[in-house]
Parts: sequence; C-alpha cells; structure tokens
Amino acid sequence: MMVQSNDTTDKYWKGVGCGIHRSDVICSIVGYMVDAGESLEYGKNHDGYWNGEMFVKQLQEKIIPTFECLHGPEYQVLFLIDNSQGHSAYAEDVLAVSRMNVNPGGKQACMRNGWFTYNGVQVEQEMVFTLNHPHFPNQPKGLYESKLCGKCIKCNPDSTACCNKHILEVQPDFQQQRSSIQEVIENAGHLCIFLPKFHCELNFIEYFWGKVKKYLQDNCNGTFNTLKTNMPLAMQSVQLSTI
Ligand SMILES: [Zn+2]
Repeated sequence: MMVQSNDTTDKYWKGVGCGIHRSDVICSIVGYMVDAGESLEYGKNHDGYWNGEMFVKQLQEKIIPTFECLHGPEYQVLFLIDNSQGHSAYAEDVLAVSRMNVNPGGKQACMRNGWFTYNGVQVEQEMVFTLNHPHFPNQPKGLYESKLCGKCIKCNPDSTACCNKHILEVQPDFQQQRSSIQEVIENAGHLCIFLPKFHCELNFIEYFWGKVKKYLQDNCNGTFNTLKTNMPLAMQSVQLSTI
C-alpha cells in the first residue's frame, strides 16, 4: 500500500507566497520512496503551480516505475490518493459534456468512443462523426432531443431529461468516466482509492509530513537555500516505524 500527498513549505522561510511544493509517496513496506518524489518551486519567478497533469506525469515516469523496481513485477500497488483539486485531471479525449457545445462547431473535445447497453450487451458507439460526414465532419454526437434546450441555466436535480446536456451526462459511459490518475494506475495493473475530502486524519502520510515540518522548523534560518538543502534530509530522517 502506498500513500501519495502534496505539501508546501512557505511557512519555513521569509518569502511570502513562494516555497517548495512536494508530491511524495510513502510505502507501508519500504517507507519514504526517494526516487518517486517530485519537487516544484512555486511563486514569483519560479515554476508555476502544481496541477493534475504534473501528477499524472509523475505517476507514469516516477511512482509506478519506482514501485515496480523496488518490489518486483509480480506485485500490485494499492494507492491511497489525496482527494485534492490538483488531482482532477482528465485525458484529452474524455467523455464529458462540459467539453461539448450544443451545436456543431467552435472549440470542442474530440471524444473517445462511448457505449450503451442493448439487450444486455455493451455496444460501442463512436462519439465523433467521421471526417467525411456531409454535415458535421469530426464533430461530437449526442442523444439530441430537439424539443429540449441544450443546457438548463440550473438543471433539475430530480430529472434525468431536463435538457440535452443532462440526458447525455447521466448515461453510464459518461457516469463511469475515470480521471487520468485512475486510468494510468489501472492500465498499469494497479489499484487506487481516493481518500474522502476534509479527512486528513485518514491519511497516514500526515504523520510523515508532521515529522518533516518539525525537522524543517528546528533547522530553519529563514533562507530559501537552507530550506532547499534541508528538504531531502528532513524527508529521509523519518523512520519507517513512524510511517
Ligand atoms: Zn438540465
């Protein structure tokens, strides 16, 4: 089992709104996984802010390979993932009504195939008209109901068919659309669960961050360089028993 979480450090030096963002992984068997971590200096004149795409890249390039290297190929990880905004990244061809327009044209997503169930069988359905379609080349398809409007100002929560957007949104293929994080983990043969929002006490990485922050505080001289030097030392100082 592995836990991933993000944390920032602007409390430990004098710069306001700048600091180091860490996205790290601890494992219940090996502890802190040095090679799986990712660092980002945020704020003024730095690298910008952490986002879901960066986490997906970290998963593909660092976290999954590090796990497979440490444990061997016959093991499966169960990832516990922090339920934070930074993790809500979706693939470019995601099934999402928010990326569609009511009418053809304009900027819209080129979606992957959807599916529907017919006589108990799952039937794949192309979500985009072919390039040589006479009327709507390369445009998304939907379950268009001409009597209804495209999109309510505020959808009726009790209805499944108040508007065209809602009809499509409640279809099982749209409902079951996974985030990029889940797709990357599951496509690599591993498992993941997302921790509930606002319950950091359920995430055992918080004890790890607690120790890291104590170390940084005890060894702080208010400069960014010291913070950068101490960060890896702080993380490696945490004992497996604490984790
Ligand atoms: Zn609606």
